[in-house]
Amino acid sequence: MRESELLEHIYARTAGLGRTHPDVIVGPGDDAAIVRTPAGDLLALGVDQLVEGRHFTAQTPPELVARKALARSLSDLAAMGADPCWALATCAVPPTCQHARELADAIHHWGERFACPVVGGDLSATSGPLVLTTTTIGRTSRPVTRAGVRPDDLICITGPVGDSLATGHHLTFTPRLRESREMVDRLGSDLHAMIDVSDGLVQDARRLAQASGVRIEIELERVPLRTPTRPAPRAICDGEDYELLFAIQPDRAQEALGTVIGRATAGEPTCAVLDAQGKELTLPTGGYDHDLGAQE
Ligand SMILES: [Mg+2]
Repeated sequence: MRESELLEHIYARTAGLGRTHPDVIVGPGDDAAIVRTPAGDLLALGVDQLVEGRHFTAQTPPELVARKALARSLSDLAAMGADPCWALATCAVPPTCQHARELADAIHHWGERFACPVVGGDLSATSGPLVLTTTTIGRTSRPVTRAGVRPDDLICITGPVGDSLATGHHLTFTPRLRESREMVDRLGSDLHAMIDVSDGLVQDARRLAQASGVRIEIELERVPLRTPTRPAPRAICDGEDYELLFAIQPDRAQEALGTVIGRATAGEPTCAVLDAQGKELTLPTGGYDHDLGAQE
């Protein structure tokens, strides 16, 4: 079973959550959940896990493992237009792990650095690989979901994509919280939709298109690349960029903190990538989709 198939199953099962629980404003299927507290405040709730051997190796310094764990979860809060407040961390630790203390110190250190203190958590032993999970909680006054792209919107990205694993970017990126906050303030309701690019630009643009019911066209030549040597058609399918991909009202391009790389049109909800002549390209792969193995 593919990750995407299991996600579809979960989204279908939870589609009516907001009707039975009116305090759930955004449920499963976006970068983070949005809930309303009894006092009327909106909170963003995000969770993310790092698995040794998949998201980092046994040789990755604990400092960078902790940083990545928090940064990934905070990138999801940024994608919702939320400001981080607190974090929780859980870790399943194998007996072979020799740096559990450094990892714990690093988690708390990065919580402070990202202005999101780690206020609790849980520990477990495991016979499997080390798994570090972080939950982040943020405040938002105007949540930005994946579902707001309109035809004629400009599609923009906060920074370059591609080659994240080879360059080490996936371990050292800074979540785009400042950019998110500034754009929510500057653009207000003209910031229509947002997602963080974790599984490749094309795959995440497709998610934005599907959530919004529009076609997104990306002009390959306009996409900023992290390394010039990486062919663009591959770079836009690489994962772990952690840039924000967002849609704005067409007359607000000057105020966007990013590069315009395409536009939305009415049409079948998917992402098309166009070459310099405006011809649609066929891409080598469709982005990252975990293999979850054989399921009943
Ligand atoms: Mg995300």
